Amino acid sequence: MAKILLVEDEKDLAQQLEDWFKREQHTIDVVYTGQDALNYLKISKYDLVILDWMLPLVSGLEVLQKMRSHNNRTPVIMLTAKDSEDDKEKGLDSGADDYVTKPFSLRELSARTRAALRRSSQAAKTVLTAGDVELDPVSRTVSKGNVEIHLEPKEFNLLEFFMRHPQQVFSADALIDRVWPSDTLVSTDAIRTYIKILRKKLDNEKVIQNVRGVGYKFEPDMK
Ligand code: CA
Repeated sequence: MAKILLVEDEKDLAQQLEDWFKREQHTIDVVYTGQDALNYLKISKYDLVILDWMLPLVSGLEVLQKMRSHNNRTPVIMLTAKDSEDDKEKGLDSGADDYVTKPFSLRELSARTRAALRRSSQAAKTVLTAGDVELDPVSRTVSKGNVEIHLEPKEFNLLEFFMRHPQQVFSADALIDRVWPSDTLVSTDAIRTYIKILRKKLDNEKVIQNVRGVGYKFEPDMK
């Protein structure tokens, strides 16, 4: 089961698709305008967006471009009556994952939907989780309990390293060696400061523990 946003201004077609996806056990929200699509995307997280290109006022292409410029990487299948190579290229260049030309069969769209969902669930596995903390190395975002946490680039790199090596002890020098580019000068005091900041931003004093005389250890389950 996936959560899908369908953006299609032809109401008959929208209804037909809605019925079909419901029968396939998906959860589906249907909107008829690009503006509504953007509003829904702000509030909810979808596994897939099926997006008609030709929409009044805000076009499907503009919705897609806005999504991508806001770092929303939800897979998008564009629906369109345009089948020129130029348009197809423009859609794919703007970050569409696939493209279905009208008229299409439900079976074709359904197959494309399955393929897009399969691809994205594989990509999603690269997201690191530790307790209620989630880190996405691709979009470089961190959240705790679904609330986004803003980290500076170095803080992010350090947290990513810890999350990839939980429960292992690293000295400050080892962290500098593994996380910082080799031509930068950073002191062990600076590492201590970065770790304090991470604890504070993650709102968990125990998530990175001091191991006396040795270094630091990431303990995601400590509260
Ligand atoms: Ca349309």
